Amino acid sequence: MNGSFRVGSLFGIPFYVNTSWFIVLALVTFSYGTELGATFPQLGFAASFLLGLVAALLLFSSVLAHELGHSFVAMRQGIEVKSISLFLFGGLASFDRESKTPGQAFWVAIAGPLVSLGLFGLLRSVLFGFNTLSPLTAVISLLASINLILALFNLIPGLPLDGGNVLKAIVWKITGDPYKGVVFAGRVGQIFGWLAIGTGLLPVFFGYGPQLWNILIGSFLLQNAGRAAQSAQIERTLSSRTAADAITPDSPIVRSDLTLREFANQHIIGNTREWKRFLVVDETGKMIGAIAADDTKKIATSDWVRTTVVELTQPLTLETITASTSLLEALQMMERIHQNELPVADETGAIIGLFEKNTAIEILRSERETETHDTPKSAEVQVSNE
Ligand SMILES: [Zn+2]
Repeated sequence: MNGSFRVGSLFGIPFYVNTSWFIVLALVTFSYGTELGATFPQLGFAASFLLGLVAALLLFSSVLAHELGHSFVAMRQGIEVKSISLFLFGGLASFDRESKTPGQAFWVAIAGPLVSLGLFGLLRSVLFGFNTLSPLTAVISLLASINLILALFNLIPGLPLDGGNVLKAIVWKITGDPYKGVVFAGRVGQIFGWLAIGTGLLPVFFGYGPQLWNILIGSFLLQNAGRAAQSAQIERTLSSRTAADAITPDSPIVRSDLTLREFANQHIIGNTREWKRFLVVDETGKMIGAIAADDTKKIATSDWVRTTVVELTQPLTLETITASTSLLEALQMMERIHQNELPVADETGAIIGLFEKNTAIEILRSERETETHDTPKSAEVQVSNE
């Protein structure tokens, strides 16, 4: 994450703190220190601020306990926790994959708020043991409230909050479709976002100042809920299409036994795209290397009929995907190996075409247009014209 640095590991999980968190640390220390100093004048300046700092650090531990709640349940499901980060608004545990069933997703999502609620209950019951007000009970009572707020705020049913993930799991369970869950929870998050902004602005109409926190939280919800719904839509489209649906027409693939003359006539002259490199395949369709279009210039045109493609072929090893690979997997692979195109092979291993990253983007674009214009056929038309 941007502006975060690692402070160590907890239960084998890399642990990061965002620089924005230090602003909160300073603010809480200052405001709570001031408050303690006013309530308990006997404490003195230094002791009140020290206690303010302790309270701020315990607040930080409460957020951490919440994130560890999510993480432990995820780890029990065999999910790897990549990191826990603390930032301005709270914490974030990121996992290497999502839960496999709606039930499991539900438990990962609810675990954090349950930890916070548990801490709230525990701290409140500790307070019963004290009958006088002291700086200690004041800190415990503050922590109890903070844990309650952590639980309730995170239970707002909009993505990316825990409540949104709980909602997603429930809709997933009912419909059997995780994407429907994300889209639904994303929409609800947007409604809550607008509500928060609305309630934040409402006082202005009555001559008061706006509720800045509501507006801030509302915009955070809107921004992220919209993003969650959008990325779910993208993933759904990409996982429903295969590489076979997205092969570039006139892919730059040439047989090794062609003469340069045939190569130029059939593949270079009149081709809609000016390919710089062609993949070379043998008679069974297996890839044996690549030929650069410019390399043909090294041979006199008069010799083209006597020279075959194989003579100019350079060795090349490229990862290939099969025709049935989903576009989502294909793109993840491209991301991993830093490549914008991948040869597509059929079940015998013969190369049948090239899949380019741009084609996936084009598919997504036309899908979006299809949705807005409600003309279900345009997606196919656009792709095959490409
Ligand atoms: Zn949470």
